[in-house]
Amino acid sequence: MSMIKLADRASTQLRFAVGARVECFVGEWVPGTIAAQFYTQDDFPDGMCAAYQIELDEGDVVFAPQDSDKLVRKLMHEPTPIDENAELRRAAALISDADAVVIAAGAGMSIPAGIDYTSEKIFKERYPGMLQYGLRRCYDTFGFSGFRENKALNWGYMCEHGHYSTAFIPTDPTYYTLRKLVGDKPYFVATSNADGLFARTGFDRERIWTPQGSYDTLQCKNSCGHVFSSLETIAKVRANTDKATMMLDTSRCPVPKCPNCGNDCCFNLNGGAYYINKHWEKDRKAMHAFIDETLAAGKKLAILEVGISVYNTPGVIRYPMEQVLRRRPTPRSSVSTPTGAPTASHAMRAGTSSQSALCRSQ
Ligand SMILES: [Zn+2]
Repeated sequence: MSMIKLADRASTQLRFAVGARVECFVGEWVPGTIAAQFYTQDDFPDGMCAAYQIELDEGDVVFAPQDSDKLVRKLMHEPTPIDENAELRRAAALISDADAVVIAAGAGMSIPAGIDYTSEKIFKERYPGMLQYGLRRCYDTFGFSGFRENKALNWGYMCEHGHYSTAFIPTDPTYYTLRKLVGDKPYFVATSNADGLFARTGFDRERIWTPQGSYDTLQCKNSCGHVFSSLETIAKVRANTDKATMMLDTSRCPVPKCPNCGNDCCFNLNGGAYYINKHWEKDRKAMHAFIDETLAAGKKLAILEVGISVYNTPGVIRYPMEQVLRRRPTPRSSVSTPTGAPTASHAMRAGTSSQSALCRSQ
């Protein structure tokens, strides 16, 4: 959808003033407040702006490229204020009352723990050598053209980032609190996070499904289908990477290749058609078997959804998890509450029935 030319600003009349209450379409309609008109940011095309920047009630800040009713419309009914603490207590009670728990977690779970792809501060601390290439946040490295042109830089950065995503131990209590909350109950984790934090904070690796891949695994980028541990490669590449330039010294350590066929390899992350996921299939099946067995035994299952945005790949974990409940012919009620988590935008919804419970925090 095209944006507005900055040059047309004076002659363009927008429908909503700053401070107006609106609804934004981000996969579903959510309430928010206009934060700015004719909004610009660094990665916009030169001379272009978005009609609005909008602060959503649940905390995320988004922009609408055009002043279109398909994107932003007047908020007709203010949402009923939520008693956050009461809802959180209810969600906690659902988990406590459950016989088994499924945790469905997205990026918002790892942000307080220190894996924040939007943080300029973290990027500067961990990857100072990348600043000279004009990058400011981990997100900026996605699709970065410099990686295509320079494999030494690509591997230097990716293995440094891979190191944090395979070895970093968080001090933030988020993951540990969740582990304590689950306690001795049988559980399964489905997470889009490739950072391995569940496994490093006390969750059993055999009970985690990571459909988006994991930094602890490399894969062939060709057609041989080989997947293998990344840990040795990460250590070797880091030992031969100049931190000032983030470039791998390929005279001492050649660019890693698939050990099976000798072709290019890459981290096993879902970034395109090359992604191999067949080795995660057993975990997906194990999770569904876990859910089916729990419900078939007449037990109460709580599904806790944490840190999954409504507009950032909800199809990976969020929608499938909602399907899990929809497919079961059991009545359920729902709870919805924004939570006061410190860094991410968060909202929690929870639903329960005699057999299942769904709690959501994003
Ligand atoms: Zn291969």
